Amino acid sequence: KAQAAQDYVNRVYETVKERNPNEEEFHQTISEIFDSLTPVFAAYPDYMKYNILERLTEPERFITFRVPWVDDDGYVHVNRGFRVQFNSALGPHKGGLRFHPSVNSSIIKFLGFEQIFKNSLTGQPIGGGKGGSDFDPKGKSDVEIMRFCQSFMTELYRYIGSDTDVPAGDIGVGAREIGYLFGQYKRIRGTVEPGVLTGKGLKYGGSLTRKEATGYGTIYFVQEMLKDKGLDFSGRTITVSGSGNVSIYAMEKAAELGATIVACSDSNGFIYDEQGIDIDTVKTLKETGNERIHSYTNMHPHAQYVDGCNGIWSIPCDIALPCATQNEIDEATAKTLVANGVKVIGEGANMPSTLEAINVFLDNDILFAPAKAANAGGVAVSSLEMAQNSGKLSWSFDEVDTKLQDIMTTIYQNCKQAAKDYGHEDNLADGANIAGFIRVADTMLEQGII
Ligand code: GLU
Repeated sequence: KAQAAQDYVNRVYETVKERNPNEEEFHQTISEIFDSLTPVFAAYPDYMKYNILERLTEPERFITFRVPWVDDDGYVHVNRGFRVQFNSALGPHKGGLRFHPSVNSSIIKFLGFEQIFKNSLTGQPIGGGKGGSDFDPKGKSDVEIMRFCQSFMTELYRYIGSDTDVPAGDIGVGAREIGYLFGQYKRIRGTVEPGVLTGKGLKYGGSLTRKEATGYGTIYFVQEMLKDKGLDFSGRTITVSGSGNVSIYAMEKAAELGATIVACSDSNGFIYDEQGIDIDTVKTLKETGNERIHSYTNMHPHAQYVDGCNGIWSIPCDIALPCATQNEIDEATAKTLVANGVKVIGEGANMPSTLEAINVFLDNDILFAPAKAANAGGVAVSSLEMAQNSGKLSWSFDEVDTKLQDIMTTIYQNCKQAAKDYGHEDNLADGANIAGFIRVADTMLEQGII
């Protein structure tokens, strides 16, 4: 049985690689997830008979489109837009839009594939999707951003809807972009359909706690993991990469729980202060000023600024929270973190650690909170936003925050249980993959061959 399962997984892996040549990030996530799932196929041969894995790895739909836009000097540019509608077994496709020059079909597929499992883990009725563009928002004027968003939506609108596919933000797409996208969707359709996008502004159907949700959720997940070992955040030193929503609100919650944030970064460099970074200053710089992190030292001259964002991982800390982007921690970086005494890794970004890095953490008994579980709080609250929109309700901050805490605790318990069931105790990466998979796979069996 074990051999048949291994052969099946290998065969599908080869097929995926052939169908999606040169898509390294997509192959990476497939290989990581497939490794965890082999014992599940041995236990449930029906998943092989009904070829769940091949059906899951081939998106229901993969859409690319042209996005022409005019810059402030009247010159016309063209970017490529993407949307992958990966799997709708559990509900409408759900997942963010990423605007970043690195975006290509591999990045969109890896994010979309991860999203299926992540969304499943939340227990909410949402399928997996993702989208974006290779557009670079850096250095663009507000009006250029608006024109780009309008052009992007002029094509995307035909594929989305509150019961079909519900985009949100990701890197490069925040409340401002969601506002422009929403405005254009409304204009084209001639109806106000709040549930078509999440991460909206609070005045037109957004949810309280959505902005904080991914960062807070990561901390709630790590908190459960620590609690299980009789530990907590109090007095721990933390380094956090990134300076978007995920990292800012992870820092805020961790500091509230008594931790000291000693360093945080943006794509240019990082700041270091062993007394503790002042989160309100980072928030003001990033949220209202749209400034780079090095400006922090103007307000806090005793803090140190260092050029180059990867250097942050050589700072000794108890807990490292990679909240910037994929593959920011490779094997060598993982070894440095371990040598410097890190005890816990909490992944706030999507796939921030390479497979080799994860193995370094697991081999050294580091408590490892895998991205698709630890950062699921954002999309979970997106689903709560959809629920409020369809019921024409608006819940209080505390109501949503309490639901978020419950969801993160349940995700932790489910990952732990799944890891235990398949003999991988303490390997939450396997647990997350297995628990996420089983809910989708069983639903696919119930819905027939589609
Ligand atoms: N981009 C976020 C993620 O990676 C949120 C997606 C959403 O809210 O739909 O999960």
